Amino acid sequence: MSNKTWDDIWNELVSNPNIKTEYNNAFLLNMFQKICSKMSKEEEYHRFVLHLFLQTKDTLSVTKSLIARECSYTLSDEEAIIVREWFDAYRKKKSKRAPISKSLKKELTDKQQGFCASCGQELGTDWSKIHVDHIIPWVLVGDELKNNYQVLCDTCNECKSSKTDFIFKSMINLA
Ligand SMILES: [Zn+2]
Repeated sequence: MSNKTWDDIWNELVSNPNIKTEYNNAFLLNMFQKICSKMSKEEEYHRFVLHLFLQTKDTLSVTKSLIARECSYTLSDEEAIIVREWFDAYRKKKSKRAPISKSLKKELTDKQQGFCASCGQELGTDWSKIHVDHIIPWVLVGDELKNNYQVLCDTCNECKSSKTDFIFKSMINLA
């Protein structure tokens, strides 16, 4: 096997569909986070945003115009649907975390076929070492999103290593 050059690794990385999806979501999340953080700091802005969502049924347009205004980015319809769901969750979220049931942990572990969502290692059978993680942080969307949970292994939960990290490391044989 011949050694890879940095260009080979880079090309492999940017053509990986998992990486593309992950970066697109991270990009959307960054913009959403920027607006949430402004809302939490500026009471007037917070009221302004809530008012925008309340005064119309066309919440997709509200989502697009908020992102365009704060981030100078035009969301596609598909992207706006994702971000709108986050805004809905933000508006509905409770002040306390919902308890994580053992059955949810089990259900997620089954769904992921027993592998960590981030690094792909086997999770094993010690439930205390399997951690339920909010994919979109709890502080932003609470427990309002249905498919916002994943299970992580002990290591990933501690170091919060990302899927990108893992794909990259496995490409250069570090994982
Ligand atoms: Zn892991």
